[in-house]
Amino acid sequence: MYLNIHTHHIEADEAIFQVQNLVIDSAIPVEVWEKQLVNSLPNQYFSAGLHPWYLKETQLEADLALLKRILTHPKVLFLGECGLDRICQTDWTFQINVFKTQIQIAEALQKPTVIHCVRAFSEIIQIKKLLRPKFPWLIHGFNNNEQILKQLIQHQLYVSLGAALLQDKSNASRLITSIPIKQLFLETDDKNCTISSIFVAASNLLEVDIEYLQEKIYANFKQIVEHQGSQ
Ligand SMILES: [Zn+2]
Repeated sequence: MYLNIHTHHIEADEAIFQVQNLVIDSAIPVEVWEKQLVNSLPNQYFSAGLHPWYLKETQLEADLALLKRILTHPKVLFLGECGLDRICQTDWTFQINVFKTQIQIAEALQKPTVIHCVRAFSEIIQIKKLLRPKFPWLIHGFNNNEQILKQLIQHQLYVSLGAALLQDKSNASRLITSIPIKQLFLETDDKNCTISSIFVAASNLLEVDIEYLQEKIYANFKQIVEHQGSQ
């Protein structure tokens, strides 16, 4: 079966394991969030986090309180997407502080984290060294150069590739064979494509059967969500 580790649009197919991303916003009542969790498909799971694009200082406290509440629901498997974005308007220091705060929450609630990162890979790695999280980190939508990829792999981050695999000359397509299969995930993010099309592209590039890739990626998913915390 297909596993989509990061999506903003659910596909109406109960055979697909999908992790839908929720961008936490306390301006929306808690009942609305809880209804969405309760009404989800059997194989539909969630990640929930404060996205760097939408951070608001005035509602940070309420957003963090809502985030903690949503994360206690059993279908919410990941904190995220959260992270750092060098080219968005949000104040840089504020982004770093909110990211670190969310990592502390992830650690306290024993959740892996899905990370949004734009031109801030060295900061992400620095923060990982500083905080030494016990629960896994995953970079979503990776499409950067080989040097960055090597650092992510070396620092034990999981790497998720998406629609960039549909273009043969993208970094993601060129570098997929350099990612250990134990650290690989696939996603559709907010793109208008199916997770099966991403698996087809990845299996062609890796020269492996779809079934093999499905098994490996599902095993990674089990590994990451059942992680007991490392030292
Ligand atoms: Zn996303």
